[in-house]
Amino acid sequence: MASVPPTVVPLDVILLGPPGSGKGTQAQLLAQRAGVPQISTGDILRAAAAAGTPIGRRAKQYMEAGKLVPDEVVIGIAQERIAQPDCARGFILDGFPRTLPQAEALEKTLQAAGRSVLIVLDLDVDDQQVTRRISGRRVCSDPSCAAVYHVDTLPSPCPLPEGEGRVRERRCPECGAGLVQRADDAEEAVRQRLRVYHGQTEPLIDYYESRGVLRRVNGEGDIEEVARRVWEALQAAAGGA
Ligand code: AMP
Repeated sequence: MASVPPTVVPLDVILLGPPGSGKGTQAQLLAQRAGVPQISTGDILRAAAAAGTPIGRRAKQYMEAGKLVPDEVVIGIAQERIAQPDCARGFILDGFPRTLPQAEALEKTLQAAGRSVLIVLDLDVDDQQVTRRISGRRVCSDPSCAAVYHVDTLPSPCPLPEGEGRVRERRCPECGAGLVQRADDAEEAVRQRLRVYHGQTEPLIDYYESRGVLRRVNGEGDIEEVARRVWEALQAAAGGA
């Protein structure tokens, strides 16, 4: 496949979509191909929670209940990350912004840095499909690895004992640590996250559409198929098509 057309501005991309739409997976692939960092506020918050920092301890209760972490906390984290030198050529935002105040804060941050050109890709997947995907999702229990899998596509099982209400059933093919189900991937938390998505995050589709920067991408299908559509959408947007 062709590379992203050269841009004179940083390649600042937001991946929007419901929980379980494949944002994290696609953001990771896209970041590798485009050569810019993936910024996942969920990963940053989970690492902070695992490390027991004050922000992490505060965030943990919201995350496990499937609720959004307060805007002022997440906005600070995102602003700090975007200011890092590795973001000078662009970034792929995954899971941020999730509310209108977050989107407005991001707009101000980017404008202040002279980077007003955004590409927003919305991964379109229906609720039934995301629920199915999330219930089979397993993540590496080592926060420094944080690889994500689905039980349907994992290599042969390697059983581990059940631990603390989490499903510990296989090892990470990358690093060998146990795979676990995220607490917020449990059924009630997923229903709550979908309610939050439709109430607070979905309005961002109209917000970015009205700014002329939104591209919709069909998120149904296998990872490679969706990755191809995401890449084509990015190329079209970066080329101004
Ligand atoms: P994710 O890994 O993106 O699904 O995020 C997991 C959880 O982290 C969410 O359900 C929220 O509790 C929290 N979180 C991540 N990003 C944000 C954000 N931009 N705003 C508020 N909460 C967030």
